[in-house]
Amino acid sequence: MPSRVYECIAKINDTIQENKDFLTDLDREIGDADHGVNMARGFNAVTEKVSQDETDIGAALKKTGMTLLSTVGGASGPLYGTAYMEAGKVLAGKTELSAEDFGAALNAAIAGIQKRGKAERGEKTMLDALIPAYETYTAKVAEGADIVTALDAAIEEANKGIEYTKTIRATKGRASYLGDRSIGHQDPGATSATLTLETIRDFLKA
Ligand code: ADP
Ligand code: MG
Repeated sequence: MPSRVYECIAKINDTIQENKDFLTDLDREIGDADHGVNMARGFNAVTEKVSQDETDIGAALKKTGMTLLSTVGGASGPLYGTAYMEAGKVLAGKTELSAEDFGAALNAAIAGIQKRGKAERGEKTMLDALIPAYETYTAKVAEGADIVTALDAAIEEANKGIEYTKTIRATKGRASYLGDRSIGHQDPGATSATLTLETIRDFLKA
């Protein structure tokens, strides 16, 4: 996405604002009813901080991460903040994105979330969408798929990951306080992560 990084970030903001109540309602079931509010506050600030003429994708993502870190409380602020910052490091200086670049950035984002949150797959978090999405994404790229085709397949897996979070007990974050009562509800963070991937895919497809 040559020098259209601001546009993509603005689209992610639109998605977050549109899904603010949905994400908050999901968090009401197993958390403290603030996931949508947190993300909406963070991305509002991001669209103000990232310049519309920013061409360096890495720099824009680093700024996104720093803004999320400083404006969003709760678990998701530091986790998404770290994810965007780590992705930004990988993409420093880039004004265009290859399929491999996107995979490397997604991998770094996931590693950042895991370092910060100390969670593994299967603990009912955003990782249950992101890790399977990444695995499928890289497998598709290895077969020669372009970003959009690989993301299509990755998003299918992310959505399966959301469904999977309904079947398991949360062992990290606030939802873990509920123990078995967290079963039956989909994870808000897995949902916002999947919505983010879908928005990036739709942006690149347009
Ligand atoms: P809080 O839980 O502090 O209120 P949010 O409601 O904004 O923060 O975000 C909750 C989401 O954060 C969860 O749905 C889950 O996906 C994610 N999350 C919580 N703890 C972790 C963790 N340790 N690692 C990865 N993701 C986590
Ligand atoms: Mg919450």
